[in-house]
Amino acid sequence: MAEALDQLREQLNGINYELLRLLNERASIVREIGEIKEKQGVPKFDPVRERAMLEELTRVNPGPFKDAEIRHLFKEIFKASLNLQEEDHKQQLLVSRKKQPQSTVINLQGTLIGGDTQVMVAGPCSVESYDQLRTVAAALKQAGIKVMRGGAFKPRTSPYDFQGLGVEGLKMLKEVADEFGLVTISEIVHPDHMELAEQYIDVIQIGARNMQNFELLKAAGEAKIPVLLKRGIAATLEEFVHAAEYIVVKGNSEVMLIERGIRTYEKWTRNTLDISAVPLLKQETHLPVMVDISHSTGRKDILLPCARAALAAGADGIMVEVHPDPQTALSDAAQQLDIPQFEQLWSGILNSGLFHQ
Ligand code: PEP
Ligand code: MN
Repeated sequence: MAEALDQLREQLNGINYELLRLLNERASIVREIGEIKEKQGVPKFDPVRERAMLEELTRVNPGPFKDAEIRHLFKEIFKASLNLQEEDHKQQLLVSRKKQPQSTVINLQGTLIGGDTQVMVAGPCSVESYDQLRTVAAALKQAGIKVMRGGAFKPRTSPYDFQGLGVEGLKMLKEVADEFGLVTISEIVHPDHMELAEQYIDVIQIGARNMQNFELLKAAGEAKIPVLLKRGIAATLEEFVHAAEYIVVKGNSEVMLIERGIRTYEKWTRNTLDISAVPLLKQETHLPVMVDISHSTGRKDILLPCARAALAAGADGIMVEVHPDPQTALSDAAQQLDIPQFEQLWSGILNSGLFHQ
């Protein structure tokens, strides 16, 4: 009796090995199909073919497994196959760390982003006047900060809100940056404005609301200056990474990602800062990853711990909004720091031991 059992088990083991071999042989073919589909740009999931295969398999099923079991087992195999193709696809992206193991380091006039050092990007939400911008620039220079932000084109929720100074704002950025030796970042919202950006600023920001504005992404991909891409308000990391791919595939490999909070049910913060995005994006892509502590929190009182958390998670930089007189700011008044508050935050960050210049 015991001998018969051993023999049957031995037979089963043999079949398991054979199934294992066949499953992996099948997986190799699945991968080849995935590559062909990738090149043709056709979807990996083909429900019509899956149904046809299931129907055929149940039609010829000799039993003893019931048709429902056969369906269930093969559906699992199909699902695993699709996962394999999707995994392959992710690794083939130009922004993928599997494709390029070494980190992309962006050199902004000597300030390196994405290497062993971190960067602080500060400045007003909107460029409001020459004097306002100059006051902030002087404070940044004094603090040893090299990169200044400031919106000239403001995509606002309401059309009645301040829309930014437009080209005039870009010109102010250039003038003030030249005076203080700063690098500038400003949002561009129209695909036709890339040359304008090249003329007046150093980094094109693509805002959260435009993360999936594909024509804008393509145009940024043809621009000759780096791009700072913000995570969409409700974008998954998968969507975020693919948005970056749109830029890189057009030829611009100088792309930085910035987590700026996502919309959740939480009301105590303007958005929810997704710290896990930082290590995940660093792991999955080779691009620099920054964290915008202003738009993610919408507050001024928790910026230091959020900045520390971002840096501890591996962020390559921090962005924060600073205004000489936040109460009178034409946008995001509630979250902008005044200059003394900024200086206090900055010294807290420098003292954290997490920021290396
Ligand atoms: C900004 O940084 O000026 C801005 C509008 O942020 P976001 O696109 O992340 O809302
Ligand atoms: Mn803002």
